[in-house]
Amino acid sequence: MCNPLRLRLIVAFLFLFGSPLLWAEVSAPVIQGQWQQGAILLGQVPPGYQLGFLGKKVTVSADGAFVIGLDRDFPTNARLRVTAPGGEVAEFNYPVAQREYKIQRVNGVPAQTVNPAPEHLARIRKEAALVREARAPISDRQDFRLAFQWPLLGPISGVYGSQRYYNGEPRRPHYGVDVAAPVGTRIVAPVSGKVVLAHDDMFFSGGTLIVDHGHGLSSTFMHLSKILVTKGELIEQGQEIAEVGATGRVTGPHLDWRMNWLDQRVDPQLIVPPMADLLSERAE
Ligand SMILES: [Zn+2]
Repeated sequence: MCNPLRLRLIVAFLFLFGSPLLWAEVSAPVIQGQWQQGAILLGQVPPGYQLGFLGKKVTVSADGAFVIGLDRDFPTNARLRVTAPGGEVAEFNYPVAQREYKIQRVNGVPAQTVNPAPEHLARIRKEAALVREARAPISDRQDFRLAFQWPLLGPISGVYGSQRYYNGEPRRPHYGVDVAAPVGTRIVAPVSGKVVLAHDDMFFSGGTLIVDHGHGLSSTFMHLSKILVTKGELIEQGQEIAEVGATGRVTGPHLDWRMNWLDQRVDPQLIVPPMADLLSERAE
């Protein structure tokens, strides 16, 4: 018989253990990398799982691999929504480390690139649209699973996230990592990918190359003097793809390497070895 006491015990048991038991059916994703602003995180779920992040569907490979990225100003908590093949749903929360960004003053920039004249605005808008369109398609490529290498070795002259003042005027933060090198120095692909944009001369970024690494992750290379690949071309890791230049809004020759995951701008420097180690190796 089901007396009231036993009923109450059953209800209490379900209340205490019911939801954890249900949630236990959904495995937590395995994440490589640190949850911090600008992060590029590789993850793994069992095959057949689906993922949601920032209200969007995350592309998951047949064997359960995925990549996500966190923007410069990502809030203190990230939430992954995981759906198992049977339809069970669980949410996993992760604290996101907040970073401090530098203030960088860049002087001697051509005045017309700091405050573009009205006649340049149409061109600037058109080029921004080209970049958006190039990055928009989400491919099934999985180049992002390879270990990334630096596209160029040299002194780092600008870092991700820094707040910039051009000729004393505050402008948008810097979203790339800058590596200084003479004009004509060869730049290599940090991992394999597919060229989705090759443009000789954009207003701000000069010679510009965008490479898709799959699942919404892309690299952008800016201020190039020469582009050695063409749109649609498949490129291998380490392949020479461009030459350093001083085109667009710059004060001297360097490569500006940026990475995007969907609409999140991420920090390439977080997924490559420390530059200082490589430069000292090269000097030996
Ligand atoms: Zn830059």
